[in-house]
Amino acid sequence: MKLYLYNTLTRKKEEFTPLFPDFVGIYTCGPTVYNYAHIGNLRTYIFEDILTRVLRFNGFTVRRVMNITDVGHMTGDRDMGEDKLEKGAARENRSAWEIAKIYTSAFKEDMVRLNLTPPDVWCKATDTIPEQIALIKTLEEKGFTYATSDGIYFDTARFPDYTKLSHQNLEALQEGARVEKNPEKRNPTDFALWKFSPKDRKRQMEWESPWGVGFPGWHIECSAMSMKFLGDHLDIHCGGTDHINVHHTNEIAQSEGAMGKPFFRFWMHGAFLNIEGGKKMAKSAGNFLTVAHTLIDNGIDPLAYRYAAFQTHYRNPMEYSDTAIQAAQNGLIHLKNQVRHIKEACAGREAEMSADAAGAWTQKFLEALNDDLNMPRAMAVVQELLKSDEPPASKLKMIQAYDAVLGFDLGRVDDDQTLPRDIQEKVDARKKARREKNWVLSDQIRDELQALGYAVQDGKDGMKVFKN
Ligand SMILES: [Zn+2]
Repeated sequence: MKLYLYNTLTRKKEEFTPLFPDFVGIYTCGPTVYNYAHIGNLRTYIFEDILTRVLRFNGFTVRRVMNITDVGHMTGDRDMGEDKLEKGAARENRSAWEIAKIYTSAFKEDMVRLNLTPPDVWCKATDTIPEQIALIKTLEEKGFTYATSDGIYFDTARFPDYTKLSHQNLEALQEGARVEKNPEKRNPTDFALWKFSPKDRKRQMEWESPWGVGFPGWHIECSAMSMKFLGDHLDIHCGGTDHINVHHTNEIAQSEGAMGKPFFRFWMHGAFLNIEGGKKMAKSAGNFLTVAHTLIDNGIDPLAYRYAAFQTHYRNPMEYSDTAIQAAQNGLIHLKNQVRHIKEACAGREAEMSADAAGAWTQKFLEALNDDLNMPRAMAVVQELLKSDEPPASKLKMIQAYDAVLGFDLGRVDDDQTLPRDIQEKVDARKKARREKNWVLSDQIRDELQALGYAVQDGKDGMKVFKN
């Protein structure tokens, strides 16, 4: 079946075919590791996880590269301000290297909690300094660069297609860039390829280069690493919509300038998460929410956030509120209960699946996925299947196969995994009471669970708890 993806470059849904048969190279811009990831950022990684899973579900072999930005990302969007890593180091009284290590692990932990498939290649900006320097040298030889007192810059006037990704007119882009006062730049949109270390203090992260001691600009790392780790397989490049106007626009300019040929063919971008009230979430806004604090500490299963993300198409803004996440948690618990009931209904029986039925359902599921990753529609197909008259064994088989995309661990549903934390605590307390033959307490907890909407069944193989 044909796969259609929305390409920011052409502003159209296009049929996706890789450059080389059956093999897809993807580059996904990774986190700047100076703090915890907020759940708004993580929404982008959920979209990229779905993209990867859908490509694999379609039978492609996927090589996905994700970078870790551990140097050179400045607090100002246009090369001014401080390096975020050095700022994080000062905040926590640690070295920039320690900060990078701590928040890289935290990010990877969040990925596990959200069941995000790890990339095939992790790479760090600080591990690819020679490649970045080589790329800047090529740009210099081709006449794309100039020096100022604080670094080596890319002259965007030398790249006539500069606005092809953002589709803005150049004046608007220049105007947006003008907020930053750098009188030495030839054009407001010009950006740093290499920045010199300040003369008055020593940076923690700095390297020798043909132009002087310093560090790479933020954009050059992604160009250098995608070329290094994907070679000619430059199929899809992803990020958040906030990457379009500056970061990805600059990546295209410098990469195509250096290579003299097109860079990635497909550019895909995930939309923002809005917290209740509509304010855009960003770390700098001070209201940033993390997996640990916002979800886990409030008894929300991180996979409920994954479930919530599937209710909105990745290119539409998603609204976040306590009510919405609670509804998603209930939805996920309900889904797991549905799967559990089907499992019980077909226990010990052979699959009675008719190949035709499975083919028709899978076709429907795939049609939703292949329509630019339409997860709300795919989730509706899942519900339709679960409520259908198909024999339980075939439902189970199909749902477990579809979980390769959904990522809810539906193959492993059991009582314990699916309960919110406060309910699980009551269940554990009741198990303990029963072991201790404290029937009064056990009955009391059962009543509490029932009052909260959970049915309790005591059987030979222990206690079972279901959401009513
Ligand atoms: Zn990037």
